[in-house]
This record gives sequence, structure tokens and C-alpha cells, in this order.
Amino acid sequence: MSAVRLTLPDGSVREFPDVVSGRQLAESIGAGLAKAALAVRVDGELRDLERPIERDATVAIVTERDPDALPLLRHSSAHVLATAVRELFPGAGIGFGPAIEDGFYYDFQVDRPFTPEDLERIEAKMTEVAKRDFPFSREVVDRAEANRRFADDPLKLERIGELGEDETISVYTDGPFVDLCRGPHVPSTGRLRHFKLLSAAGAYWRGDERRQMLQRIYGTAWFQKEDLDAHLHRLEEARKRDHRVIGKQLDLFSIQDVVGPGLVFWHPRGAMLKWLLTRAVEDDNLRSGYEFVYTPNISREELFRISGHLPHYAENQFPAMGAGAGETEEVKYRVKPMNCPMHALVYKSQQRSYRDLPVRLSEVANVYRNERSGTLHGLLRVRGLSMDDAHIFCTMDQVEEEIFLCLDQVDRLVRQAFGFELDFEVSTRPPERLGSDEVWERAERILQVALERKGIPFRMDEGGGAFYGPKIDIKFRDAIGRLWQGPTIQLDFNLPERFELEYTGPDNRPHRPVMIHRAIYGTLERFTGNLIEHFAGAFPVWLAPEQVRVIPISDAQAEAARAVGSRLKAAGVRVHVDDRGETLNYRIRDAEVHKVPYMAVVGQREADSDSVALRARGAGRKQDVISVDALIARIAREVDSKALSSAQEIPEPAGASER
Ligand SMILES: [Zn+2]
Ligand SMILES: [Zn+2]
Repeated sequence: MSAVRLTLPDGSVREFPDVVSGRQLAESIGAGLAKAALAVRVDGELRDLERPIERDATVAIVTERDPDALPLLRHSSAHVLATAVRELFPGAGIGFGPAIEDGFYYDFQVDRPFTPEDLERIEAKMTEVAKRDFPFSREVVDRAEANRRFADDPLKLERIGELGEDETISVYTDGPFVDLCRGPHVPSTGRLRHFKLLSAAGAYWRGDERRQMLQRIYGTAWFQKEDLDAHLHRLEEARKRDHRVIGKQLDLFSIQDVVGPGLVFWHPRGAMLKWLLTRAVEDDNLRSGYEFVYTPNISREELFRISGHLPHYAENQFPAMGAGAGETEEVKYRVKPMNCPMHALVYKSQQRSYRDLPVRLSEVANVYRNERSGTLHGLLRVRGLSMDDAHIFCTMDQVEEEIFLCLDQVDRLVRQAFGFELDFEVSTRPPERLGSDEVWERAERILQVALERKGIPFRMDEGGGAFYGPKIDIKFRDAIGRLWQGPTIQLDFNLPERFELEYTGPDNRPHRPVMIHRAIYGTLERFTGNLIEHFAGAFPVWLAPEQVRVIPISDAQAEAARAVGSRLKAAGVRVHVDDRGETLNYRIRDAEVHKVPYMAVVGQREADSDSVALRARGAGRKQDVISVDALIARIAREVDSKALSSAQEIPEPAGASER
């Protein structure tokens, strides 16, 4: 017998005469907690509720409110999925079954892909397994025993073979199913109540295209029915908003096999989006004191050795190309994966004094990253990226002011311009890092104080910073509640060292500047993809590739309609006149399909009175007859204010509208 002293989150201490399980601990606190308990955290380690706690420790009972609870439920759900698959497909080989964002998957080696009918049967079987409420029981075995248990499972045997000599090998049983797993899990399969299988797809064993193809089943699981329903609704919404589908419908972009995966063709309407976004960020940059630079797309490898991208980042860079004509063969070139080293060279090209700082260099530049072809996804993950990149070179004393400026830009260009709700996170020093603790301490402090002084709430990601400096990561939430990676503001103590950047201080001696990397949109590709899904293709007037479509009721008004089009165009409005010989209804429908914010219909009455019958997108048949001048003024107002509210909600200014 050895007594155990357990310290609870509220600081109170409980003593037990002997080893005690998490469940017993929860019971000693209260029946309600025991019922809600899913797992226990012992000195920070998440463990099964039944596992004995043998020593004094700081402990916390994990219930569904805990941030670790959903991943725990979802990973346990993957076991239940495998249990069901093994019941229905006894010969299925089993791969891995992790929790992922919003759900889980499990990989199986089976003779043929799973069909939608299979998924229905498997889901029904999972419900059965859940109802039978099998406990997840943990057992530690030696290697020989593990090999014996999984003798029929080559994938598991391969995994066992890789486990280190001193690693604990644990297996978990739920009813008829045994799995090699590190755990932990929820206490029993009955905890799985609100779940759904979503899809099946081929996946290479261990993500390696040289290995066999397995069949992966994806699912989602939640503690509350409302949460499951809301998630399924979100998925349905996301499906409807898929930027790849809308991008094709609206003819915004394409990706073509003959050129290669992840390389985007911006068609005229998509290019207009990109140009407008680029212009918005460049205008803002100029007003915020940035200067523009343009730097080469390829460089001798030497540059990336100085920056440290080679060899560390080599696998994300496209392989080297041969030398240019007249150079020796040893010289190799690479296409650039980022702009930072280039901007460092611009900084270094002249003597800098403290009076010149901060130097703010910006460039919307194309960079290329050798992402695995299997991970590419429409505009969201590409190989050719247009980054709205900028680098600020300043003194440590200037960092806070520069962070303020960056935060203001983020507020204008992301929150105000699109109505996105922002989510801030500060990442601090990782275990492996460059620079003294003093410098880190100060830099982390500056980032936090800057956010605090702006009144911006943020979370801390302790240890999540890059080895070369702390950063602020900003995510934005779209119309259906999804969080996307947005702007980053990254301090860097490393590149100024590597490139030996200097400025002359008031003391007449050389000093190192701090470098700040910052991107607002990140890449124009991903940001545009996000915007397409956020707006479901119905862009606000300032961003719409086509703002007004002029539609004559019949041929008799075609000339008047073209005159309206010319006047709008001369006023800077993006307009198209649809004078095709199709029916009026067909042409109205076509403008709706293309999500044009305004239709300006020209009948004889309008043609005679220098006006149009204006229909706003989404307002149905409701129309206002307004003068062409009033329409021009209205568009200009919406563009200038970057108005977001759907067009039909924007009130007409007094006097501009006549019915
Ligand atoms: Zn497991
Ligand atoms: Zn950079």
C-alpha cells in the first residue's frame, strides 16, 4: 500500500490510501462528476479514466467541456468505426484511426472501395456497437504478444516493428475489436451518441504513393445533437459554396493539367477580383508608409543558403535548374519560395542610418512552393502563390509602433472590408530557438502589449513561435462560421543576422535591425478562394467583377441600352450590356446566375427618360426606376464606402428614387 496525494485544479488536495483510478477520484468528488467524467489529466497527461494513478500528482477530471474532450470522443469513434467495419468486413486490414479537425477517420485495407450503401450499413452497425456500451479496456503487452495478437494485420505488424525498444505497447479492446493504440479513450462505446459517417476515399498507406492504396472512411462526432446538426448544416453550406464549383460557374479561374497542378489561370473575371484586392492592399500600403519593390523570381542557390532555406526548406522548393548561358555548370538556380531574402538584399544595398528606419518594403509577388500534388486544393492550396508580402526593418524601439500599423491595416483590409470577425493568437518562444532570452522576453512583451493597447483580445500559443521570433497569427471567421488562416505578423531576429543587416545608430556604431514579416491577405489565391465561399460568389459592389448588367427589354431599346452602358463605363463602372436576341426572362436569369449586383433594365419609358429600372441582386422582381446619374452616384458611393450589406438593403438617398 502506498498513499497517493492528488492535487485538484482548485488547489485542494485529496489523499487516498492506495493507488486510485480517475473514476474513483471522480466518485470521491461527486456522483455528477463521476457520470460526466470522460478521462483524467495526470500531471498534464491525458489518460483513461480507469487507469490507476500510482503516484502523487496534479490531476483534473476531463468532462465534455474540456478542450481535449472532443478529440478524445472522435478518436474513440474511430475505434467504434473499425469495430463495425470488422464485423461487416471480417478480412479488412486496419491502418490508423486518428481524430482530425471536426471529426475522425480510419483507414482500411479492403478488396474494393466502400460504397454509400456500405457507409449506411457501417453507420447502423456503429450505432449497435455504441448501444452495447462496451468498455474500452487497456492492456499493456510485450512485443511478442503484440505480434501474436495482430498476426493477421500486416499494417499493425509494421507499426509494432517500428516501436522503440523501451516503448510501452498498449492494446485496447472494445467488445469484439482489439486495436494497437496509445490511447486514451472515453470510458465506453456508449459515450458515442451523435455521430455521422461522411465519406470514403482512397488514401495511400502512411500517405506514401509508393505504398498500397487503403480506403479511408471519414466521420464526425459530437457530444450534443444540436452541435452535430449544426455541423452537418455547415458542411452542406460549404458544399454549396465550394469555390471550385462557383469559380467555374462564374468563370473566375481554372487549373489545367497541361500546365500542372496548383498553378492558377485567372480568367478575366477572376483577374478583376485579384486586381481589385491587390489594389486595395497596395493603396493601403502607400498610405501606411510602405514603398514598393519588385524582385527577381529566380535566384542562384547561394541566396537560399545564406537565408537558411537550403537545406532546411529544400523539400518545399522546386528542384534546382541549370546555370544561365555563360555561367559555370556548378551554378544552380532556384525559383523563389518566399520574398524575405530578396527584400533583405534591397535593404542591404545601401548604408542605412537610424534616421532611415523603419524601412517598409512591400511587393505583391509570385512565389512557388513544391507542395505535394495530393495536398493541392483549388485556390486554397496551390504551388504558384501571389503573396501580398511586406518586410519592415526597424529598431527594437520601433517594433511596437510598427505592430500598431500592421494591426490597423488588418482591421481595415480584412475586418472592415469584408466584415470578418478576427481571432488573434500570440506564439511565443519554442524550445529550440535563436536569440537571447532577454530579446525574446522583450519581443513577446511588445506583441502582447500592442494587442492589449489596441483593446484586442488574444490567446497565447506558448512555445508555438518560429525558432527565429514570436508572431501574431490572425484567423478570420467566414459567413458559415469556419475559421481560416489569415494575416501574420512575424518578428525575425535571424535573417538580419544571416544577411548581416546593419544600420548606424546615434552612437555612430553599427546595429542590427529587427525584421518584421507581414502579410495581410497571405496569398491572393487562398484569400480569393475564401472570399468566393464567404460570399457564395455574390460579391459586394466594390469587388464584383461585373457591377451592373444593362438589359434592354427588346431590340427597340438596344441602342438606348448601349448608350447607358457607355455612360456607366465612362464613369468607371464595370458594366456589360446584354443585348442578345434572347428573351428578357432568359437574360435576367443569366444575370442572376452570374450574381451581378445590379440589373439595369431599359424599356421604352426608361429610354425616353434617361433612366433605368434597377433590380438589386436577391431582391426578386422588386425594381426602382432611377436616373442614370443616380445609378452612377449610387455605385460610386458603394465602392467608396466598400459597402458590404447586400445591395437591396442599401437605402436610396432622398430624392434619388422615383417609382
Ligand atoms: Zn485509440
Ligand atoms: Zn518574409
